Amino acid sequence: MKIVTFSRNVFIPLTNACRNRCAYCGFRSDNHELMTPNEVKSLLSKAKNASEALFTFGERPDVYDDVKRKLKAMGYSNFLELVRDVNELAVKMGFLPHTNAGVLSYEELKKLKPYNASMGLMLEQAVELECHALSPGKKPEVRIKTIKNAGKLLIPFTTGILIGIGEKPYDRIYSLEVIADVHANYGHIQEVIIQPFQPKKGTPMQDWKPPSGEELLEVVRKAREILPEDIAIQIPPNLVGDVYPFLKAGANDLGGISEVTPDYINPEHPWPSLSDLKAMLRNEFLLRERLPIYPKFVRLRWFSDEIADLIYRLADEEGLRCSTT
Ligand code: SF4
Repeated sequence: MKIVTFSRNVFIPLTNACRNRCAYCGFRSDNHELMTPNEVKSLLSKAKNASEALFTFGERPDVYDDVKRKLKAMGYSNFLELVRDVNELAVKMGFLPHTNAGVLSYEELKKLKPYNASMGLMLEQAVELECHALSPGKKPEVRIKTIKNAGKLLIPFTTGILIGIGEKPYDRIYSLEVIADVHANYGHIQEVIIQPFQPKKGTPMQDWKPPSGEELLEVVRKAREILPEDIAIQIPPNLVGDVYPFLKAGANDLGGISEVTPDYINPEHPWPSLSDLKAMLRNEFLLRERLPIYPKFVRLRWFSDEIADLIYRLADEEGLRCSTT
């Protein structure tokens, strides 16, 4: 039976302050709230079954003076100091961090690597689009540079494309080819998310239509043709409904599923239960839990000494999640 993987995670939205203003985003806010390490600790303590601490937040929130002031009151001189601190806290509590920090420099990625099992940055699309006109961090070249720098640092990496934000069908193919090309050079891409755009009330794109199921299936088929077999294709089960046709088309990962936190990016779409997901597999696929680092990179030992013990404790001999933990 073909294996389909998922990760049991806890979603930690450290801040919704963001220097970008993507026209489809319902996550960003001008309230600039920051989670404290104590709040992170309390959230993690509720997620006993999870192995992944998913840190997701707006890009470069400390461009704002009020964010800088809040960080200073907490004893940090910049936002990445807070990120590194809560990454380390998660490891101490038995969770493997996966951080989505937006665009970072080589040195910034290097600072976060020791306490992250993997990191991520959606490419979105490798072409300039109107919805990103107010988002300097969404310029394709700066995102590709971050993804390449993660490869230079041997960071197992997640990227993906967002479908339905004004790109043409050939842009999707080009974006997948760009990811395949980066992977051919660095070998660090572990999964590519095929994410459908979802309209959000109060955003400039609230009246746009999300892509159809058939369109998404076509992208998954193309992704399976373009990307090498060692890159998993991930579809978000809370956004696509029945996952079965997508698995038949070549997807083989269902991403992070949380029992204690919503998908803060798409809170109107709750995660399906594991029993519902299993039923969707129609006895043709076997659902297995993985860690935020894929088995290939566990075998290659692409992780730091700081998290090695935890990975060996959580992984089984195949590099997937040990069933006894
Ligand atoms: S970068 Fe992310 S958080 Fe920031 S506006 Fe764009 S989609 Fe929203």
